[in-house]
Amino acid sequence: MPPEYDPVESPDATTVFPYHDLTPPTTADVYRARRVVRDHLPRTPLVRSEPLSAEFDADVYLKREDTLPTGAFKVRGGVTLAAGLDDEFRDPGLIAASTGNHGQSVAYAGRAFDVPVTVVVPEDANPSKVTAMERLGAEVRHYGDDFDAARERAEALAADEGYRYVHSANEPDLVAGVGTAGLEVVEDLPDVDYLFCPVGGGSSAAGYCLTVGELTDATVVGAQSEAAPAMHRAWAEGHLRPSDRMGTFAEGIATSVPFAMTVRLLRDRLDDFRLVSEDALRAGVRDLLVEDSVVMEGACAAAVAAMRQYGDDLRGETVVFPVSGRNLDVEKLQAALDD
Ligand SMILES: *Cc1c(COP(=O)(O)O)cnc(C)c1O
Repeated sequence: MPPEYDPVESPDATTVFPYHDLTPPTTADVYRARRVVRDHLPRTPLVRSEPLSAEFDADVYLKREDTLPTGAFKVRGGVTLAAGLDDEFRDPGLIAASTGNHGQSVAYAGRAFDVPVTVVVPEDANPSKVTAMERLGAEVRHYGDDFDAARERAEALAADEGYRYVHSANEPDLVAGVGTAGLEVVEDLPDVDYLFCPVGGGSSAAGYCLTVGELTDATVVGAQSEAAPAMHRAWAEGHLRPSDRMGTFAEGIATSVPFAMTVRLLRDRLDDFRLVSEDALRAGVRDLLVEDSVVMEGACAAAVAAMRQYGDDLRGETVVFPVSGRNLDVEKLQAALDD
């Protein structure tokens, strides 16, 4: 077995391999990623929301990442990583663990670059997300009760069979790739004052810090559910201990382990980080559907909930939040409407 397939000492509770360079990417890396992203994905619209602008007495814009193929921003990172893949990993290809959007991103990228993809999902994974990954050509394997069990299985398979393990956050190319959304915001709205962003593994928020945070005067604010506060704790307390709470309605930001590389970036660069309630997440999903006719996942509502904590402080300001994904399943939509 080639030595690069043996795990190395990991700073966090996940497995990393020698090919995982945990040096955080830079703003220059985001500009480099854009050359790839531009060739494979459309630019996403930045659209003013009249209902939210009225609510906050501010100029509020939605960055419509839900309009990308796969319906979520993560595909920007997937294509960036696959474009730079070492030839030695083309066979047997990529492996990832995911409950949804990360798996679809890697599956999309594998198809675009003709690299086989395996995704390990929990036994009870949402069937429509599984079908979406399979349609993109991925082999989906079911394992375990939750994301962490599936993740450990994917890590073991990577070690045993030599797949290139696409970690959900400790990947400079993923962060640089998703950061290209921030470059688009900077170009379209250089006077942005605030950017509110949901945090799961932290790649998206890190990407906005490297772009909107670096290139404009804007304040970048992260948001996570108080029911799944692992990354918030790591950011506030400076450690990488897993959290035992992961009961959020928003599976896109349900992370029980903080990830070393993104925690480092966010501790250096994120201006503020808010915890929001589960009720506020459901309210955000409902309000965007009813008022803006936008179907978005619970994860995106974390940003809206954090904006509502700021309240009057946003008066007169120019505010952006990403509609990070639209893969909301029907039961969750129903739960948000029934609330
Ligand atoms: C993954 C995801 C997030 C969280 O992004 P991270 O980069 O993991 O912090 C937010 N919203 C949606 C829709 C997602 O799929």
